[in-house]
Amino acid sequence: MAIQHNESDILEKEINNLIAEGPVSKTIEQLKNRLLNQHKNAESRFRKIFDQSRFGNKIIDADLCIIQVNTALEALLGYTAKELIGTRIIDIAHPDFIKDWKELQSGLWSQKHDSFSIDTCLLKKNKEILWCRVTSIIFEDKGHSYGYTILEDISDRKNLERIRAEVDAKKDEFISIVSHELKTPLTTIKAINQLLQKAVSKDQTYYSFIQKSNHHILRLEKLIADLLDVNNITEGSVALNPSVFDMDFMLQECISGIQAIHPTHEIYYHPVGITKITADQFRIEQVIINLVNNAVKYSPSAEQVEVKLISTTTAIRIEVKDGGIGIAKKNVNKIFDRYYRIKDTSHHFQGLGLGLYIASRIIEKHHGTIGVDSEFGKGSTFWFTLPQNK
Ligand code: ADP
Repeated sequence: MAIQHNESDILEKEINNLIAEGPVSKTIEQLKNRLLNQHKNAESRFRKIFDQSRFGNKIIDADLCIIQVNTALEALLGYTAKELIGTRIIDIAHPDFIKDWKELQSGLWSQKHDSFSIDTCLLKKNKEILWCRVTSIIFEDKGHSYGYTILEDISDRKNLERIRAEVDAKKDEFISIVSHELKTPLTTIKAINQLLQKAVSKDQTYYSFIQKSNHHILRLEKLIADLLDVNNITEGSVALNPSVFDMDFMLQECISGIQAIHPTHEIYYHPVGITKITADQFRIEQVIINLVNNAVKYSPSAEQVEVKLISTTTAIRIEVKDGGIGIAKKNVNKIFDRYYRIKDTSHHFQGLGLGLYIASRIIEKHHGTIGVDSEFGKGSTFWFTLPQNK
């Protein structure tokens, strides 16, 4: 764009000079030559970009027939220019993707879109699959319309995504089996521990041991529950059980429960009065417990965690603020991903990287939003909103 702008500036200057210098016919002749040269320059620049691009390039006419290809496209597809010219790209589209191509091409040529970009599949001459990102535009030249398409090979990325999805599926299957297997013996251990606790009096030395083992049983239970939950949530099989409840009262109850197990921190919540909401109380409690537990866990040198409830006419917003380790900007978008833990800090804190993933899916299911405002080294405010139907 910048080059064109400069050239038209120069051209305007030259026209003014020519008009000032001589007769109009000479001026027009010189102007014509100048324009022709400019057109040739633009054409040769385009040709250079078209031919030498590392992406596959092709031009098609209004009948969708290929009329020009560059060497990168020949290399990508394994066909020569001679074999490609006169054919249509749809002839070598992967059968599963022909429909996408048809829809997009008709959208483009009927001027519904100025351009389109899709990830799609073509079949190479040797019948191998080529995953490519295709970007197309329509342009006019000498009164005719043409389609200009750039094809970028994305096979490596697609293969990686496929492998990742396969590994994740295997991991999920393994986790599901293991967590089911762990659940049954743990229930027995828990029951025996409760019996022992009843049998031993509080002043006996063993009482504190039993309490400790109880604490670890609860932790194990929470881990197994998260593992089972993550599978259900990923498969989308978590159904909500909505009811009307008072969020303010729920927060008071919930926070006093969490406070009892975290004597290291003061967890503040200032009640705001009855705030009725329709949601799955158990699931929302699960989100709050998760965020507050994280706030405590990731702020070992701070002493306070503050929970706020803000109510507007259309939504409620809950904030959990800590003065802990904070989150670097580059990690903020990833922490809600499944199994994601921040590498630099994960070895200092125990966890599976599932809590925020589960929380985000629960909030999504309620048509709410979840997020975090954080400053690395200073602390974080995790928040979520829920729509309020008054
Ligand atoms: P877990 O705590 O089990 O690792 P989560 O899904 O709850 O899993 O959190 C994902 C990651 O987000 C954590 O590993 C941690 O790096 C980061 N994180 C979560 N909460 C906080 C917080 N309050 N302060 C700083 N980092 C946090």
